[in-house]
Amino acid sequence: MSKALRLSEKWFRRGLWLVAVVFAGFLIGLGGTIVGDLPKVEKPLRVEDFLDRTAADRLRASIQETGRTAREGRDALDQARLKRRVAEADTQAARESFQNWVATRRATQLSEQDPEVVSRTQALDRLRQAERTAQAEEQRQDQVLLDARQREARARLQLQEMEQEATRKMNAEARRVELRVFLYRLALTLPLLVAAGWLLRTKRHGTWWPFVWGFAAFALFAFFVELVPYLPSYGGYVRYIVGIVVTVLVGRQAIVGLNRYLERQRAAEQLPDAQRREELSYDTALARLAKGVCPGCERGVDLRSEKIDFCPHCGIGLYDRCGQCASRKSAFAKFCHSCGTGKGVGLARLVEGVA
Ligand SMILES: [Zn+2]
Ligand SMILES: [Zn+2]
Repeated sequence: MSKALRLSEKWFRRGLWLVAVVFAGFLIGLGGTIVGDLPKVEKPLRVEDFLDRTAADRLRASIQETGRTAREGRDALDQARLKRRVAEADTQAARESFQNWVATRRATQLSEQDPEVVSRTQALDRLRQAERTAQAEEQRQDQVLLDARQREARARLQLQEMEQEATRKMNAEARRVELRVFLYRLALTLPLLVAAGWLLRTKRHGTWWPFVWGFAAFALFAFFVELVPYLPSYGGYVRYIVGIVVTVLVGRQAIVGLNRYLERQRAAEQLPDAQRREELSYDTALARLAKGVCPGCERGVDLRSEKIDFCPHCGIGLYDRCGQCASRKSAFAKFCHSCGTGKGVGLARLVEGVA
C-alpha cells in the first residue's frame, strides 16, 4: 500500500479505517449475541431432575407427617406434664394433712377414730394411684414425641443423602454440558479464524480491505475473548495452542515478507537510475522524501544539503537541473518548481498552449 500524500486521500483512508472498526464492532456485537444464546441450546440443570422423584416425595411427606406428629406430641406432653404436677401437688397436700391429723390423734388417743385412719389412708392411696397414672401418661407422650423426632431425623438424613447423590450426578452432567457448549463455540469461532487468516493473506490489499480487516478483528475477538467464559479446564490448551499456531503463521509470513523485500531492494539497486525512478510510484517517492529517507533504498539521507545530488548508499539521483532554466530541483518532481517545465516533454507549455 503506497503512502498517499494527497490530503483528501489521507482522510478517505482514515474514514475507511473507521469503517473497518465499525464493521468489526457490529460483527462482534452480533457474534456475542449468537454465542451468548448458545447455552440456551442446553436446558438449565436442576438437582430435582436427578432425584428419584417418588422416593423423594415419599420422604418429604414423611418428614411433614412426623413433624406434625412431633408438634402435637409436644403439646400433649405439656398437658400431661401439667396434669402430673397437679396430681403430685394433690398427693403432697393430702399427705401433709394426714400427717398432721395422725399427730393430733396420737396426742388425743381417741380409739373411736380408727375407722377414719383407714378411710384417710385409702384416700391417700387413691391420690397416689392418680399421680402414678398421670406420670405414666406423661411418659407415654414422651415416647410418642421421641419416636416422631427420630423418624423425622431419619427421613431427613435419607433425603439429604439422596440430594447429595443427585448433586453429584448434576455436576457431572454440568461438566458434559460445558464441554458441549465449548465445542459449539469452537465449531463456530475456529472456522471464522481460518477464514479471517485466508482473507488477510489474499485480500488485505484489495479494494475491500476495510471489510477484510474488520472481519479479521472480529474473528480474533470471537476466538480469543468470547470463547473464554466457556472454556472447560483444558480449554486453555486449545486457546493457547491455536494462538501459538496463528503467531507462528503470521511471524513466518512477516519473516518471508521481509526477506522478499530485502531481495527486491537489492535487485532494484542493481538497475540503472532511470529505470529505478520509473518503477517508483510518485506518491511512494514523495512519502519517503517527506520522511527524510532515500526514495530508492529507504536509508537516511540529508536532503537539505545543497551539495548532495545523489544517494550515497544506492546512487539514485535525488536532485538534478531543469532542462529549461537549469534550476536545481528534486529529481522526482514532475515539474520544475522554477519555470514549470514538465519532465522530458515540455508538458507545461503544451498545457498552456491548449488553455
Ligand atoms: Zn539510496
Ligand atoms: Zn526550470
